[in-house]
Amino acid sequence: MSVVYDRVALIGLGLIASSMFWAIKRGGLAGEVTGYARSAGTRDTARKIGLCDRVCESVAEAVEGADLVVICVPVGAMGPVAEEMRAHLKPGATVSDVGSVKKSVIEAVAPHIPEGVHFIPAHPLAGTEHSGPESGFAELFENRWLLIVPAAEDADPEAVARLRALWEGMGANVDVMDPDHHDLVLAVTSHTPHLIAYTMVGVADDLRRVTDSEVIKYSAAGFRDFTRIAASDPTMWRDVFLTNKDATLEILGRFTEELFALQRAIRTGDGDLLHDYFTRTRAIRRGIIQAGQDTSAPDFGRTKGTR
Ligand code: NAP
Repeated sequence: MSVVYDRVALIGLGLIASSMFWAIKRGGLAGEVTGYARSAGTRDTARKIGLCDRVCESVAEAVEGADLVVICVPVGAMGPVAEEMRAHLKPGATVSDVGSVKKSVIEAVAPHIPEGVHFIPAHPLAGTEHSGPESGFAELFENRWLLIVPAAEDADPEAVARLRALWEGMGANVDVMDPDHHDLVLAVTSHTPHLIAYTMVGVADDLRRVTDSEVIKYSAAGFRDFTRIAASDPTMWRDVFLTNKDATLEILGRFTEELFALQRAIRTGDGDLLHDYFTRTRAIRRGIIQAGQDTSAPDFGRTKGTR
């Protein structure tokens, strides 16, 4: 593979940025990758494990001369980070991000993008419940979707094509989507399921009649998957719900209605309704496996989880 950008800067050095670094290096997709994280501890860890060709002491130093800057911090922190880098961006550079929510990120970041710099938001649909600089691995994006979500309809086609080439080089399948639709789709496929997992684990925690040891001991079934999801980074997910409020509330409303319908079916003994419902959901699961987005292995192939 060949170099897509001479210099890439990664701002925030957690799971996504570190996975990007290893994938970029594996593919020889950039000449140099600089990195910055706000805490000295994270920067020290990054240097120790060889994460980034150069770990910088400031946002300004990291983005200086970069052809591509990728903001990899929680979505609520993206606006202030963009403001900090604003005066130091190279003319003609591209600023992108990896945030799980797009509309609010665009609103927060776009005002800080100077004239002559391209802003092309993106979101990799890949992750694990782990976070921090040591959690990344080069294969994270392989055969996963990367959604490019242009902030404006007149996004520079050449800049979009280059960003696409970088993500394809990292193994991702790339699609383009508009911000409102992105936030609704993700509310269905990721955000609301996470909220439900957090709730279910919280409920089990509240049920004092079921002891902690029983929850742990007998959690080989569905609950185990809930606990994995509910172990996800609290800051990241707090920001997701605060910034994708409308879409999440809409889906949550529908979820609650369906739950009441199932609750009623259980109370009234309506086995046909339950059977039909579960038949429909089973077909969705099969569709996901056929689309190559999960495996039918008994442990869901989740030695390295996906989201
Ligand atoms: P992570 O592993 O928790 O790393 C977050 C990084 O952001 C750390 O370097 C942290 O710095 C920095 N950071 C946190 N709060 C900050 C603030 N207020 N100001 C400046 N920097 C801050 O996170 P991640 O999982 O890589 O997620 C990064 C982004 O990717 C998020 O926007 C998330 O929505 C998106 N995303 C995540 C996943 C996933 O499954 N994890 C999937 C797709 C997209 P310190 O280490 O110095 O604290």
